[in-house]
Amino acid sequence: AIAFQNLEKSFGSLKVLQGVTGEIDKGEVTAIIGSSGCGKSTLLRCFNRLEAINGGSLTVNNIDLSRPNLNYKQLRQLRTQVGMVFQQFNLFPHLSVLENLTLAPRQVLGKTQKESAQLAGTYLDKVGLFDKASAYPEQLSGGQKQRVAIARSLCMNPQIMLFDEPTSALDPELVGEVLQVMQQLAADGMTMVVVTHEMQFAREVANRAIFLNKGKIEEQGNAREILTNPESDRLRTFLSRLN
Ligand code: ATP
Ligand code: MG
Repeated sequence: AIAFQNLEKSFGSLKVLQGVTGEIDKGEVTAIIGSSGCGKSTLLRCFNRLEAINGGSLTVNNIDLSRPNLNYKQLRQLRTQVGMVFQQFNLFPHLSVLENLTLAPRQVLGKTQKESAQLAGTYLDKVGLFDKASAYPEQLSGGQKQRVAIARSLCMNPQIMLFDEPTSALDPELVGEVLQVMQQLAADGMTMVVVTHEMQFAREVANRAIFLNKGKIEEQGNAREILTNPESDRLRTFLSRLN
């Protein structure tokens, strides 16, 4: 689980997140929504310490991220427990799909080639790409690349998965196959935090939604409720612009 109180994040004099308070429970899917530049990615990046916070408190799976310095062991524990999927896939282009999936389990978790290949097979199967194990990223469609990126993350056996606009770089016809994999993951009970503009997904799959406006939480609550009947005028306007 993730808990944060009065979280603050600045870049120089630019206050990007201010007084952000909330929690993400185990097994829940939380959607983070809001206009460009409101701080969605920054908040997500705080959760796995790609960004250090400047104020307030943040704990992720009982690891205290409020401290300015984490030791190597804590950081490693955090990065192993929290997987992240990016808009641009970030696969290693010079490695095959199988090699992309087995690299971290071997180097970080110390698994053997055989163990990690078995694990990779399991997760490739889960995302429907078992037959692409020896392909290279450039030979895959965007949707396939993103499903490989998800499988790669799963190979580390994370307890929490963070997604930063995982379908935004995809052609419209490829969005569905990635959302379907994410929906399955949610159904399996994975704790997920998803920055997304896919409101239908947020409404139907997410338990909670957080609407950020200029670095502050403008509204948060049950995803279906607040995305169907928002209390805040800003959220209502935001939703009407998407539809
Ligand atoms: P988008 O929907 O466009 O991805 P976002 O909600 O994810 O936007 P962030 O990327 O979190 O927004 O950025 C929030 C603010 O912080 C923006 O004003 C951005 O320019 C600024 N910002 C983000 N990262 C940095 C950085 N490393 N250095 C300086 N400013 C940054
Ligand atoms: Mg962003």
